[in-house]
Amino acid sequence: MLFRDLTAAFRRIQAMNSRDDSIAELALTYRKIRNSNSNALPRAVYLTTSQLAPSHIGVELRFRDKSFAPVISEAFQTQNKSIDQNEILELYKSTGDYGTVIEELWTKLDLNSLENPTSAMSIDVVFEYTALNSISILRFNRELEALSKQVGKGSTARKKDIAIKLLQQCQTPEEAKFLVRLLVHQNLRIGVGLKTAVSALAIAFLPNDEIDNIKPTKYLSSVTTAYSQRPSFEDLVDVLQTCTKQHSSINDIADCILRKATPKPGTPIQTMLGYPSSSLNDIIKRMSKQQVSNAACEYKYDGARLQIHIEDITKWRAIGVGLSIFSRNMEKIPSDHKYYRMLSNSLDFLPHVNSVILEGEMVAIDAVSQKLLPFQVLQVKEEESMCFFAFDCLYLNNQSLIQEPFHLRREKLHSSLNVVPGDIKLVESVDINMESENALELLEAVLQAAIDADCEGLMVKSIGERYSAGARTHTWLKIKGDYLNTSPETSSGIFLPDTLDLVPIAAYRGKGRRANVFGSFLMACFNPSTNTFETVGNVGSGFTDDQLEAISAEINDQILSTKPLEYVASELPSVQPDVWLSPTNVWEIRAAQLTLSSKYVAGHKILSKGLGVRFPRFVRIRDDKNPTGATTADQLVEMYRTATEDS
Ligand code: ATP
Repeated sequence: MLFRDLTAAFRRIQAMNSRDDSIAELALTYRKIRNSNSNALPRAVYLTTSQLAPSHIGVELRFRDKSFAPVISEAFQTQNKSIDQNEILELYKSTGDYGTVIEELWTKLDLNSLENPTSAMSIDVVFEYTALNSISILRFNRELEALSKQVGKGSTARKKDIAIKLLQQCQTPEEAKFLVRLLVHQNLRIGVGLKTAVSALAIAFLPNDEIDNIKPTKYLSSVTTAYSQRPSFEDLVDVLQTCTKQHSSINDIADCILRKATPKPGTPIQTMLGYPSSSLNDIIKRMSKQQVSNAACEYKYDGARLQIHIEDITKWRAIGVGLSIFSRNMEKIPSDHKYYRMLSNSLDFLPHVNSVILEGEMVAIDAVSQKLLPFQVLQVKEEESMCFFAFDCLYLNNQSLIQEPFHLRREKLHSSLNVVPGDIKLVESVDINMESENALELLEAVLQAAIDADCEGLMVKSIGERYSAGARTHTWLKIKGDYLNTSPETSSGIFLPDTLDLVPIAAYRGKGRRANVFGSFLMACFNPSTNTFETVGNVGSGFTDDQLEAISAEINDQILSTKPLEYVASELPSVQPDVWLSPTNVWEIRAAQLTLSSKYVAGHKILSKGLGVRFPRFVRIRDDKNPTGATTADQLVEMYRTATEDS
């Protein structure tokens, strides 16, 4: 299959309104690739999700939007056609999309009539080695990868050269359009998120007649789980290939996938997430609704979540390879980072461990008093004393534990960490029977003890539950001390049980004393189904003057010439910002309420109107989260619905 055929599928998907139709079209495309050459399939899936590799590999493309006009201008110049950079920039400002710009230029310059000396870019890997002059997607990706790795001196010029070369290999406006969207916008803008791509990939491996006759719910959920446990499309394609070859019944295939796609040390597992609770009574109510009797009430430490992977401890001791530490973002922490240095010293002692995946929280501590310090200290000080509090063990000595109940994983965690130096500890925890008469009293006591120990609150976990990678479940509840008993009485909205993590997508200039800086920001949540950002409020308080100055200086680099297509915002004149920003940061925002709004659009596809926050305040920058890890539209809708049902 040629890259231009893949981009033709992107065009068809872009014109579709329903997610089901997009999945069907993508599945058809993936099936064709699979039938011709499955080696190209993982790469096609990465491209569909606007990535070049799994996120932990850290491959990143970056062109500032203004700097792309000269690239387009030069790419066409060499084909004896020329177009003025300013004209390109103007066209971009009026459309917000370099993809559309290139399509329009293609027609205007009549590029189809040109003789293109290069042959079509193919995604058939065999072609790369056999047919002369064909460039497979593998090669195509290599060039893109080369592009993404360009850092340091001269990198801007090199990047520009590679982008020009790639553009000149395009033979259709569609190829150029989607290539450009990948390069500049890092978003194909076809409304396909990761979830959609995973479902399409799953369906591509089903026999045609299965798709028409059944709704393969169990199968689809096992593929989604497989990807969350081992987020690599190379591995997922391998597992799907093997299981569909070995089994014919769809249920057997689903079981086979879950057996095979277990965690692998070295590939980060998507983290299990907690559901926010607003009161201890709420915790008891939710746990009994899920028929949970025993729950572990763990201190909730205020630090950085880390996943530690050791592939083979003997090898690591001998040649120093095979220890990977991943951040909350699933990014690999470099070996010269303070977390890595501290953990590699301490982990060297594990006596009963050969291979392991551990999860826990890295916390800053005062070297003298041993008191826990707030997360911010960890962020700013290079050589602070630290302690790692381990709370889960997902893999031990060549065995996955992900399907095992929490009490068993906890036993393994305790046995693997029973002899380690003092800077690795187990989390403080008390098991409470949620059905007992004094459950509330006991919970109150543990929460108070956690707060007295300078922790944020509690994580309450059902002890019989497996680890649900990438999921936010009602059997892992979080409660923060400073959110207790602060619920304002309200009739027109709901009280939020937790802070939100939102993306500043636009800014308004300050007034009066703040005239030299940006004074408020349009905030958005993320919608992973469509790969879009949906507005949810405007934050202008909670900042110190110094913070506003620092933020204003930093975002100068993020200012876009126009609003990107993946931002969904109201057209009301009262919310139009002064500048649009690229989606770069995540900020923790504390808000009082979530209400239906005509100014904001979060969750509008699910509810009759969008949701907006009331009285939002800036709390801090969340360096440990990517914009795609921000609070999602679904989460906001769920919070809104749960609270309105409860009231
Ligand atoms: P979420 O992880 O739910 O998206 P978040 O990253 O914004 O939320 P919080 O809302 O503060 O963080 O709560 C969950 C986080 O608490 C976990 O991701 C983890 O980093 C931290 N944490 C601290 N102690 C524990 C513990 N004992 N068990 C699980 N997580 C803990």
